[in-house]
Amino acid sequence: MKLQLNDSSLLQTQAFINGEWVNGDAGETFPVSNPATGEVIAEVASVGAEETARTIDLAEAAMKEWKKLAPAKRSEILERWHNLIIENTDDLAAIMTVEQGKPLFEAKGEVMYGASYLKWFAEEGKRIYGDVLPSPGDRRSIVIKQPVGVVAAITPWNFPNAMITRKAAPALAAGCSILLKPAAETPLSALALAELAKRAGVPAGLFNVLPSKSASLVGGEMTSNAKVKKLTFTGSTPIGKLLMKQCADTVKRTSMELGGNAPVIIFDDADLDLAVKGALVSKYRNSGQTCICANRLLVQEGIYDKFVEKFSEAVKQFKLGHGFDDDATHGPVVSKKALADIDAIVQNAVEQGANVVTGGKPSELGNCFYEPTILTDVNDKMSIFGEEIFGPVAPVFKFSTEEEAIAMANDTEFGLASYVFTENLGRIWRVSEGIEYGMVGVNETAISSEVIPFGGVKESGQGREGSKYGLEDYLETKYICMGGL
Ligand code: NAP
Repeated sequence: MKLQLNDSSLLQTQAFINGEWVNGDAGETFPVSNPATGEVIAEVASVGAEETARTIDLAEAAMKEWKKLAPAKRSEILERWHNLIIENTDDLAAIMTVEQGKPLFEAKGEVMYGASYLKWFAEEGKRIYGDVLPSPGDRRSIVIKQPVGVVAAITPWNFPNAMITRKAAPALAAGCSILLKPAAETPLSALALAELAKRAGVPAGLFNVLPSKSASLVGGEMTSNAKVKKLTFTGSTPIGKLLMKQCADTVKRTSMELGGNAPVIIFDDADLDLAVKGALVSKYRNSGQTCICANRLLVQEGIYDKFVEKFSEAVKQFKLGHGFDDDATHGPVVSKKALADIDAIVQNAVEQGANVVTGGKPSELGNCFYEPTILTDVNDKMSIFGEEIFGPVAPVFKFSTEEEAIAMANDTEFGLASYVFTENLGRIWRVSEGIEYGMVGVNETAISSEVIPFGGVKESGQGREGSKYGLEDYLETKYICMGGL
């Protein structure tokens, strides 16, 4: 299938360094393929450690002017980048669908969501305030905020656009420069964003994209190079831990958006239709490949059977298909390896006694398609209770009491998103305060936007993205003491 774009220059396949499109030193490339068909869409330039080191030097030099620019000027440039993304939504979405697999309507939604971070931080960057502290005698104590320095970013394939803007927008708004290694599965969306950054007038060296077939080489340089002052990472918990260790030698600031194991707690007193709708969106969006996806449905015993019945009726209406098919509600998962991992989790649960209500196997559509799946007869002793599934599989666990639900929700090393469905106000407070998560959706699962602080606790990470809190991750606090007044 040939990718048809209104503007073919958005399909870039070289690295973007210091405002220029370049190949890696060794002239190597790696293939990017369409998970719906297996077809190779493009060969993309691969960079290594030396190109990364050079980019860091250029980013450091570029930042010198950028950080002194009036915040309103930085804001104008970010706003232009935002507008260009919106104008090119159709092409950016098509590039995303072809390399990642999500249906076109979902890809368009992500492009808008991604753009919203640029608009938000374009505004927020104008409001980086300091403080004058009440001080004794002849001295005054001042606090100012300064950009943290050169930022390195590493992003995953599940949101190939928004995970980038969520980092680049606050970094640039704060006066930093940034170099980004996108996931090997989805570099084309990142490179298209770079093309639009260039057109928007983001000065050379401030936003750099380093695709690579060797994540550890690029990541190794990013984490060991003392000129990089901060690493921001979105991805799996094991890689996040590895990168934190690597950052320790140069004591870098880190922001870590890592894995999740989100519970959706549905009490007997919940609005059943609302809970079914919320669980459907949360579990199956992006074919179950989001870090805040419902991973465990915890349903109270009085409503359990009714919930499973309604939930499975709705799941059976889903239409699996290629992202460009008009009637496809859900696309493939990202790769054959992802498909095999998901199937192994399901088969393992079945061997341990789980009952397949629907799905439970790869789809006849082939390639990377997995049937939307519901499992019952599951319990907290099974391995599926503790694993991040990252696929369209919903295990529905049963509980009796509020205390048991809170204990089950907390029985994981993860702490990113969580959801509670109940009509009882006291319970809303007790459960929201009792569960150990960075985010709680009450009677709502569509919780993310640019205005909220997105992030996790425990092994789901540290730092927040979006909102006024997200800017702090890119700022240093400096104290100035004025004496002898
Ligand atoms: P991943 O395997 O950790 O990969 C994420 C990124 O890290 C990719 O760019 C990858 O590059 C890179 N990477 C891998 N090994 C590396 C190394 N040794 N050094 C430097 N970089 C390295 O995760 P994934 O499978 O792509 O993404 C899914 C995970 O991300 C899930 O756990 C999900 O929950 C999490 N996630 C979290 C959030 C959040 O906000 N908390 C949001 C989205 C996703 P290559 O692609 O080249 O391997």
